[in-house]
Amino acid sequence: MSIQGDTELLVTSVSKVDEGDHERFTHIVLEGYTPKGGDFVPLENSVVEGMINQSPVKALCGKIWVPGRDPQKYPICPTCKEVAQSMGWKLPAG
Ligand SMILES: [Zn+2]
Repeated sequence: MSIQGDTELLVTSVSKVDEGDHERFTHIVLEGYTPKGGDFVPLENSVVEGMINQSPVKALCGKIWVPGRDPQKYPICPTCKEVAQSMGWKLPAG
């Protein structure tokens, strides 16, 4: 993925809570981006739509799952964080 530093990103953090899931993290999902002076480009990776339509989203770390309606506070997934930081992206708070 090649997204320039002056590109505005739409990034959402969403927790993953599956029964029997050992890893409980808040993952970072890139939903789309707005190039400088351009229009918003959706990546068809919307957390809200995923919750409504039960369609899976993909996190930066590569995890794919259907986001739950009841997000909880877990630590940010270290892999997602690493990817975001290596791209020089600003992370959402929390
Ligand atoms: Zn992750």
